[in-house]
Amino acid sequence: MSTATLTRDLIVTQARALKLPGLARAFEPLARQARDAHWPHEDYLHEVLTAEHTSRHESVMRQRLHEAKFPEVKTLDTFDFAAADGVNATQIHTLARGEWITAPANLILAGPIGTGKTHLAIALGVEATKQKRRVLFVRAADLVRQLLEARDTRELGRLQRRLRTCELLIVDELGFVPFDRPGGELLFNLISERYERRATVVTTNLAFAEWVTVFAGDEKLTTALLDRLAHHATVITTKGKSYRMRKRRGTE
Ligand code: ADP
Ligand code: MG
Repeated sequence: MSTATLTRDLIVTQARALKLPGLARAFEPLARQARDAHWPHEDYLHEVLTAEHTSRHESVMRQRLHEAKFPEVKTLDTFDFAAADGVNATQIHTLARGEWITAPANLILAGPIGTGKTHLAIALGVEATKQKRRVLFVRAADLVRQLLEARDTRELGRLQRRLRTCELLIVDELGFVPFDRPGGELLFNLISERYERRATVVTTNLAFAEWVTVFAGDEKLTTALLDRLAHHATVITTKGKSYRMRKRRGTE
C-alpha cells in the first residue's frame, strides 16, 4: 500500500471518528485541485473546512424540514403573486426573512378556500427551517385531537412542552372542524402559553367574527384567544376564487 493511500484511509477514519462527513467527502477532490492549482496550504484547509461547514448546515436544514412535518413542500418561488389577490409580494418576502419569528409575532392568513393560505404558510415555514428554526406544521383539527388524546393517555405535559417550545407553530385550517369545549380550551391554553414567547401562524377560512363558531359558541374564550393571537400579528386576507379552479378553467 502506498503512503498516499495509507494517509487517505487514516483521514477517512479520523473524519469518521470526529464526525466530519463533509470533510471526508471533500478532502480528496479538493487536494487534487489544490495540487493542480498550487494553492497555499491555508487555502486548501479553508476550502475543506468550508465544505464541512456547508455540509453541516445542510444537514441541520434537512433535519428541521423533516421535523416540521409539512404535508408537502411548497416554496415561495412557485407562488404566483400576480394571481394572489390580497397578497403583497414585498410583505411576504419581508416575512420570509423571519425577524417576526424572533420578535416573536404572529401571522394570520384568512380567506376563502384555495387562495394560497396553506401554500404561503408552508413556504414561510420552509424559509424558517433554512434559518435553522424549529418549525411544526399541524392542522387545527389534528392538533386538538392530539391534545385530547394526550390528555387521555396522561401524555399531555410532554406534548404541551413540545408545542410550547417549537419556534414556529403553523396551525392550518382553523374553522374547518369545530371543537368541543375541552378541545377548544386545550387550544386556547396552547395559544396563551405561546403568547409573546413564540411565533404562531394560523390559517383560516373564517372571518374573526365567525371564530366563535369553532369554539362551541364560547364568546369569552374566543375573544381571549383572538386578543392574544392578534395582539402582535400580521393579518393577511387572501381574496378571490380558488387558484386551482381558475387554472382548470383557464380563466385569468
Ligand atoms: P388554501 O389553503 O387557501 O385553501 P392552498 O394554499 O392549499 O389554498 O392552495 C390550493 C392549491 O393551489 C395548492 O396546490 C397551492 O399550491 C395552489 N395555489 C394557490 N394559490 C397559488 C398561487 N398564488 N400561486 C401558485 N399556486 C397557488
Ligand atoms: Mg389550506
